[in-house]
Amino acid sequence: MIGRRESVSGAHFAFTDRWGGVSAAPYEALNLGGAVGDDAGAVGANRELAAKSLGVDPARVVWMNQVHGADAAVVDEPWGDRPVPETDAIVTARRGLALAVLTADCVPVLLADPVAGVVAAAHAGRPGMIAGIVPAAVRAMTGLGADPARIVARTGPSVCGRCYEVPEAMRAEVAAAEPAAYATTSRGTPAVDVAAGVRAQLERLGVRDLEQSPVCTLESADHFSYRRDRTTGRLAGYVWLD
Ligand SMILES: [Zn+2]
Repeated sequence: MIGRRESVSGAHFAFTDRWGGVSAAPYEALNLGGAVGDDAGAVGANRELAAKSLGVDPARVVWMNQVHGADAAVVDEPWGDRPVPETDAIVTARRGLALAVLTADCVPVLLADPVAGVVAAAHAGRPGMIAGIVPAAVRAMTGLGADPARIVARTGPSVCGRCYEVPEAMRAEVAAAEPAAYATTSRGTPAVDVAAGVRAQLERLGVRDLEQSPVCTLESADHFSYRRDRTTGRLAGYVWLD
């Protein structure tokens, strides 16, 4: 259910694994993604189960319509009946409002400045990392009073640089935008390390407290991996303030 959970000065970070939910194959079991072909009732039940296991009100979880872009939105309330906007980062200064990011290989980025009382969740895949979704999230946080030097950053399970094989030209394009993401697979072929790119970006922004998950989604049977299984579920990362 909850693969990893941590609390720092009243800011809470959590990342799910694939177990403990009600979805059937190929989404078994805790699929939290609503746009992957799974039964909507099962996804709703899974979101409720995950929220309850975190001690969060399921109605106070804010999800995104993620599009691999670089737009960050400030939120004060759940979307309610409004359409969920296309965005890859959400930021709030509202205590008790949980921000959620969905992934299955991309890097889920959770950020919190517990002193300012500002948190953010961002979806950093290869296109979003290059486009600058991480700096956009940090900028939106500083706009609400956060200081990068106080930001606690945690990233969740994602496909690792030894597994994320890409064409040579794509690696060159990614490395031109973010040199730290240049990687080579365990077989010696061109690869991209999105998490390393995220780390470099956060460090350049002045974020010092950064921990990254050692779990590779593609290598782990306990996590959803789009590159491994194509039709599969989505993991979630959650961040919120007391
Ligand atoms: Zn790997």
